[in-house]
Amino acid sequence: MNNGQNRRPEAAPARSKRKRGRSLKYVRRRDGLNAGYIIFAAVIVLILAVSLFFIFRGKAAGPSAPEQTGSETAEQTLPETEARRETFIEVPTADVAAGDLILVNYDHAYVFPEKDDLVNVYENKTDDFKVAYSYYMMDRHVLDVLISLTRELSETTGEDDLTVNSAYRSLEEQRQIYDEYTETWGEETAKLYVADPGYSEHHTGLAADLTLVRDDGTALPILQSAAYDEIIRLLRDNGFILRYPEGKKEVTRIETEPWHFRYVGLPHSLIIEKTGLCFEEYIAFLKNFTPDGNVLFLSTGGRLSSVPFEEAGSSGGGCAIYRAAAGTGDVTKIPVPDGADEPSVSGDNDGGFIVTVNFGASPARVTGVGDDVSAIIKTIAPSD
Ligand SMILES: [Zn+2]
Repeated sequence: MNNGQNRRPEAAPARSKRKRGRSLKYVRRRDGLNAGYIIFAAVIVLILAVSLFFIFRGKAAGPSAPEQTGSETAEQTLPETEARRETFIEVPTADVAAGDLILVNYDHAYVFPEKDDLVNVYENKTDDFKVAYSYYMMDRHVLDVLISLTRELSETTGEDDLTVNSAYRSLEEQRQIYDEYTETWGEETAKLYVADPGYSEHHTGLAADLTLVRDDGTALPILQSAAYDEIIRLLRDNGFILRYPEGKKEVTRIETEPWHFRYVGLPHSLIIEKTGLCFEEYIAFLKNFTPDGNVLFLSTGGRLSSVPFEEAGSSGGGCAIYRAAAGTGDVTKIPVPDGADEPSVSGDNDGGFIVTVNFGASPARVTGVGDDVSAIIKTIAPSD
């Protein structure tokens, strides 16, 4: 905190992994099936060798009966699918309510953690952006990303008036804002802009309202900036989404808010933008991708397709995304495709965990959406 002004955070992380504070703790391990599989294979080879030995000797007697029985028993206790899924991660089931991809809205309350990872925005700010109030707090990792992208914005466009106009809100702050709006505008209108206390995205520390405040104090919407396109591009390319976009009020139950951005991490922000889904729809969309079926695969070339879980590792470089339902015990065990880099896991606050795994380089864009994925999108958000 003492050298906050000079802080030069590393480049924006390539994906939504969060290492500190509320980041999800998981254990990655092999299940011992690998060793079992090798022994099984060795037994088969031995049987084959013995068989060939007898065959070549021209003996009528084949392999002895007990050996055959033995091999059948081994097949029954080690089904093929089990043998292939040898890598799992273990996540505390309670973390279903934590992470960059949690859904917080009118019917998904935010679960306040015992220990959060919030930092003061003003104390850490640079000359590349502004903050409306000095008490604002934000998730540490998200602030790092914001610092990094506003530096790029300022260097490439000269726009350094981007202003954080709201960030983290405690339950009490949300109640005050809600009460003020209700008093001024009536409850019906207030509800279109201000979430009920406990149900606001601002509780997460992952959201920020962004405006422009010029040096003379004039406040403007970001749309008024000559660098507007670049602001939107930088936010999206660094993991932020416009959370309440036009045309989605029926789903989000919040009026269009061109100022409210939410951090979801990469490559989710890229996919959300390309598919035109709002966050509620995206979380519903991801339920189509599970360890028992297909994963959503984003190739390094940027193509989005649906690929069988078992084949994710052999589909060329890229990123696989899928959802695993939370278990009933204290720990949820989630399969990971073979050949994946370190997975990133987030709860969805809707009964599941979203796993994002890279195979080699992380894709930097989404260039096309396959017909298979388009068909699923149409079931979630039919276009008319
Ligand atoms: Zn907001």
